[in-house]
Amino acid sequence: MPELPEVETVRRGIANLAGNKVSKIFRSDKKMRIESTLDLQSLKNAKITEISRRARYLIIHFDNQKSLIIHLGMSGKVTVKNDFEKLKHDHFALEFLDGKYLILNDARRFGFVDLVATKNLEKHKMLSKLGPEPLSQEFEFDYLKSQLHGKNMNIKTTMMDNEIVVGVGNIYINESLFDSKISPTRQASSIKDSELKKLIASIKKIIQNAIDLGGSSISDYVTASGDLGNFQNTFKVYGRDKLQCLSCKNLIQKIKQNGRSSFYCSTCQK
Ligand SMILES: [Zn+2]
Repeated sequence: MPELPEVETVRRGIANLAGNKVSKIFRSDKKMRIESTLDLQSLKNAKITEISRRARYLIIHFDNQKSLIIHLGMSGKVTVKNDFEKLKHDHFALEFLDGKYLILNDARRFGFVDLVATKNLEKHKMLSKLGPEPLSQEFEFDYLKSQLHGKNMNIKTTMMDNEIVVGVGNIYINESLFDSKISPTRQASSIKDSELKKLIASIKKIIQNAIDLGGSSISDYVTASGDLGNFQNTFKVYGRDKLQCLSCKNLIQKIKQNGRSSFYCSTCQK
């Protein structure tokens, strides 16, 4: 599933569409996860002013005071092409005056496109409850300490809660906990101040590094130009169960927490 670094990589790949004017809108007749609030056809002749991202949502802003939220779901791909063949799983596309196309292909249809009034963006049901971005200044020690206060849940599952911090998906929390030497099984409220500072620094470092490397290609994620990400080549624990820890040579363990796989070294991570 595309996580924050992958979606940010896609955003960067399509950012140069800003300034382009929409000439045609295509929407397949297949249902997606949610239907668009406003009529997608009202994008005709609108010009892209900016392409941003919030958590795992791409947001395309137009000069008609409307914004298009694109969610890639489990396996969605957004690409920019010079032609549009209407492939089987192409569910949405914008044609621009310069002849380019922005295409959303989503075989499993867990994604969606939703056109909303820009002034209502923050109130959108998928965006209104989101916590801070991991790379933002708001995601810092005092904030996280107050969020973890009294939390009985394990630290790994807690940090994957989008209301606490967005975009720290399964890969990135596994790697961040290894980097900060904290066991995923620890109760969130038991994390010491010094460990919490390390964890925040590790999350910021790992997410930034993943963005710099174009995200992780572990299933079928590709960048907007169709390239693979490279962060998967730097995994230290994710997917490395029964392999030797790169620090101490003990074997990496795999457990399930809240239905998701956790990988960790019980010697290095306490
Ligand atoms: Zn180890």
